[in-house]
Amino acid sequence: MQKRGIVILVAHDAKKNDLVEWIKFNKGTLENFALYATKTTGELIIKNIGLEINLLKSGPLGGDSQIGTMLVENSVNMLIFFWDPLSPQPHDVDIKALLRIAVLYNVPIACNRATADYLISSPLFHQDEVFKEE
Ligand code: PGA
Repeated sequence: MQKRGIVILVAHDAKKNDLVEWIKFNKGTLENFALYATKTTGELIIKNIGLEINLLKSGPLGGDSQIGTMLVENSVNMLIFFWDPLSPQPHDVDIKALLRIAVLYNVPIACNRATADYLISSPLFHQDEVFKEE
């Protein structure tokens, strides 16, 4: 099946269940996209939901940097990144770099469920174009 674009999914450990619940709810929409996720997040999605996921490295092992490169080089429709505001992360600098690149390239990012709901239900998300800056 021809995919409509790319959606990237990442959640820190304390937020992984929230993300899985959100993906379950939005499975019908998300399965039209090529889905990428950091390793542990992606494996959890595969196990719990059975969606096809392209696995990147785990976040602390460079996954965030891989995503950053994807945002620079590809047209990514949406980044769902449920990061944990209450726990220190060993790869904090990578997270900051990823968020910077996402803003720089005008990629829609959702860092919590409310924003993810707004993005996925937006008519703009259902147009066949992305907002990436060239
Ligand atoms: P993970 O990586 O999906 O492998 O846990 C995400 C992260 O912790 O940044």
